[in-house]
Amino acid sequence: MNDAERFTIRQFGAEVRRVLVVAAHPDDLETACGGTVLLLIQQGVEVSLLLCTDGDIGTHDPNFTRATLAAARRQETLAAAQVIGLKEVIFLGHPDGELVADLTLRAEIAGAYRRLQSDTIFTFDPFWPGQAHPDHTAAGRAAVDAYMPSKMELYHPEQLVGGVKVADVKRFFFFGGSNREGEITIDISSVWPTKMAATRCHVSQFGQKEEALQWLADWNRETGRCCGLEYAEAFHPMHVW
Ligand SMILES: [Zn+2]
Repeated sequence: MNDAERFTIRQFGAEVRRVLVVAAHPDDLETACGGTVLLLIQQGVEVSLLLCTDGDIGTHDPNFTRATLAAARRQETLAAAQVIGLKEVIFLGHPDGELVADLTLRAEIAGAYRRLQSDTIFTFDPFWPGQAHPDHTAAGRAAVDAYMPSKMELYHPEQLVGGVKVADVKRFFFFGGSNREGEITIDISSVWPTKMAATRCHVSQFGQKEEALQWLADWNRETGRCCGLEYAEAFHPMHVW
């Protein structure tokens, strides 16, 4: 890694071609890794999103029911996906606040790894004890748990039809930005306005008010402070063989 490559997406390696983001809630991608995803797509990398829940408890507004909120948040997710340029969004529709890394979720994620032939997975760090949201831990746990069986022909062979092959996942990057050791830091300053535009598509969460996303600006600024960057996102690599 030479100096010019520090803080750029080259840290992920040139062999990253097809990324799948395994997220728990509709705004997880934009907030946790939206800038990095934008930079990868600019370089010709295909990025898709697998969304475990519809975020259908995410409001204090009494005018929503779980069903109407889920529908609204799917539309917001698709609008944000357009701004970012995602290849595909997969909705699993599990209940928000109750996500469990069970065998059903593992098989669903494995099916996506196989069909999309993802080489790189972005997700929550299931091993981080500071994670307060159980859905985040469950999404990350299930994403890692799906890795090994998804490569084996005898695991859910019904998925291996119509030319679908066993999975070829080679690497995981966990969402970081909590100043832990071993993180790689990505300069997202050039795509910050687009990251904000995509995040604001989640109107049910953030409305259109600038101050509703101050926490995100503060977080990404804080992440960049170590390295003299205006805005940054960070990731923990997990090497798998
Ligand atoms: Zn979330």
